[in-house]
Amino acid sequence: MSSRGRFGKFGGRYVPETLIEALDELESSYEVLRDDPSFKAELERLLRHYAGRPTPLYFAANLTKKLGGAKIYLKREDLLHGGAHKINNSLGQALLAKRMGKDRVIAETGAGQHGVATAMACAVLNLSCTVYMGELDVERQSANVKRMKLLGAEVVPVRSGTKTLKDAINEAIRDWVTNVGITYYLLGSCVGPHPYPTIVRDFQSVIGRECRSQAVELEGGLPDWVIACVGGGSNAIGIFHPFLNDPVKLVGVEAGGSGELLGEHAASLSRGVDGVLHGAYTYVLQDEDGQIAETWSVAPGLDYPGVGPEHAYLKETGRVKYVTVEDVGALKAYLTLTRTEGILPALEPAHAIAYAMELAPSLPGDEVIVVNLSGRGDKDLDTVLRWVERA
Ligand SMILES: *Cc1c(COP(=O)(O)O)cnc(C)c1O
Repeated sequence: MSSRGRFGKFGGRYVPETLIEALDELESSYEVLRDDPSFKAELERLLRHYAGRPTPLYFAANLTKKLGGAKIYLKREDLLHGGAHKINNSLGQALLAKRMGKDRVIAETGAGQHGVATAMACAVLNLSCTVYMGELDVERQSANVKRMKLLGAEVVPVRSGTKTLKDAINEAIRDWVTNVGITYYLLGSCVGPHPYPTIVRDFQSVIGRECRSQAVELEGGLPDWVIACVGGGSNAIGIFHPFLNDPVKLVGVEAGGSGELLGEHAASLSRGVDGVLHGAYTYVLQDEDGQIAETWSVAPGLDYPGVGPEHAYLKETGRVKYVTVEDVGALKAYLTLTRTEGILPALEPAHAIAYAMELAPSLPGDEVIVVNLSGRGDKDLDTVLRWVERA
């Protein structure tokens, strides 16, 4: 990380003056706690015994045989408690909140996955939890709303604007400004103002660290390729970061949605421009008037008009290659992985699987591809089955 939360020219803090003090407090607390032995031991204990780490690095032998070419391994974040990588970050930040003496956690959620992970972390750490959610999302994601409520969280429907994620973020920030003394704002991806992109990346980097030693153990060396889907970018930066200084090819897969026009996809890096969103200078999808665009992806976790600033930097330096896979490719990959390996992937990482399936046959059999399987696909059953019926 460059000074004051910049990744090259990206990142920084584009927030109202009223939030600077809170961000400074978060930054200085994190600087101390990240190296604190008792904090590290407590997080390690939770990740191991509560969340289920380490997750396996699984050799997908059937898929590899079917495709011919490079060996495909899956980093099984889908096996974590809650069914996705999000719990790594929620546990880390909830523990941070507790150590900072803030008993009230707030969060915002779109599809509800981050809200559920945060409600779980708050329940186990005995913190109060309030989740802001656009009213439209409350209706569309009723199962996750029920989960959050059962877990003891208060879900606040947001009725302003488009009644979706970006309005929920505005409400959460308003709450934080008002109640900053006792409140911790728990952000769900490596986005937002400094220090959030760094904090979330650090908590997710456990994925890449494990993957590194598992690859050495299983294959006698580092993988040739690491592939991950990119929404806000947290599962991708988590698996990429420990490999940044190695000769490993890194590929981030964005949501190509249903087409290439603005509004039909969520490919901020591949098709966006640089601009400010939610407190950071990064790549965004916006129209000619500079208004943030609507986005679309069949995978709700990828449906976001921005991306973490560190990814913008890694794109600009060329260290990571960013590509797109459309809805149809992800849906096909979902069915293929389900049938060949008996694993239902979430539609988000199904984008990364689809790219790996395209890549593997073009590579020699001694190369190794790792795909970050960021979550499980039970949540997407209805979407997939509706598509199968129509196709
Ligand atoms: C939320 C989510 C994503 C997208 O978020 P990132 O911050 O880009 O990782 C990807 N996969 C799954 C399973 C998710 O729940």
